[in-house]
Amino acid sequence: MASSVAAALRSKPCKKLCSILFRLEGKVALVTGGASGIGEATARLFTKHGAKVVIADIQDDLGQSVSRDLESSSFVHCDVTKEDDVEKAVNTTVSKHGKLDIMFNNAGITGVNQTNITDYKLSDFEQVVKVNLVGVFLGTKHGARVMIPARRGSIINTASVCGSIGGVASHAYTSSKHGVVGLVKNTAVELGAYGIRVNSVSPYVVATPLAKNFFKLDDEGCLSVYSNLKGADLLPRDVAEAALYLGSDDSKYVSGHNLVIDGGFTIVNPGFT
Ligand code: NAD
Repeated sequence: MASSVAAALRSKPCKKLCSILFRLEGKVALVTGGASGIGEATARLFTKHGAKVVIADIQDDLGQSVSRDLESSSFVHCDVTKEDDVEKAVNTTVSKHGKLDIMFNNAGITGVNQTNITDYKLSDFEQVVKVNLVGVFLGTKHGARVMIPARRGSIINTASVCGSIGGVASHAYTSSKHGVVGLVKNTAVELGAYGIRVNSVSPYVVATPLAKNFFKLDDEGCLSVYSNLKGADLLPRDVAEAALYLGSDDSKYVSGHNLVIDGGFTIVNPGFT
């Protein structure tokens, strides 16, 4: 549907409208953690804007059902902590669609709630770092592998406000998200030489299964946790809009950036403790 409307609009008088309505027309995206929450909202928004999207997740039934619902999308099972899975997801995307323009490394977990450092189990710490940081490293590595020869691409990683401040989430979560922001800076420098941009999105609390479980939130939403954000309904779609900007050519000169989506939370609480 989106592609046929785009084709109709491609005629000269409508070209401008087409570029507004279909900001990812002709692009191919791989979205990890695409079965739920922010990843799902992003897969939906990307396809709406004309992209072909491959959803990668460990939740096969949910991922397949999201992909069935979307035109030009498909699902691949992928555990982002396993290099073979990530390599396969990237290769599947390229063999199916001929290229990879946008790699959205978004899959993540919170792990156990805040625990004192002296009581923190090594296995709990490693589990979170493995998904949230090693997963992003593997996605960046294999995304870059196919983008480098193409001399273009946009890599977007989901960090968090916990990638800039401390005291909100667990030691493992905060460490993993700071790691994501650091990896963005390093890889943006290296990959810029190939025309590849690398950025991150850093949301505050978004009402997804992850946040509801972590903060024990009710279905109504979640932003009562910290009072200064009352009234700001941060939804998965808002983060997807940021990813859309970073994935589209509208952000063609933006790289190495951490786009914070928090209604000003980290400015008000720069060293939250
Ligand atoms: P979510 O639980 O709705 O979605 C996360 C998805 O990641 C799920 O579909 C899950 O199956 C998938 N996943 C988990 N482990 C995986 C693995 N090993 N391999 C592949 N997929 C895996 O949660 P969400 O809130 O949409 O989280 C998306 C990202 O946003 C995460 O990186 C999270 O840390 C980050 N984030 C969330 C919030 C928030 O408040 N929801 C705030 C800041 C950052």
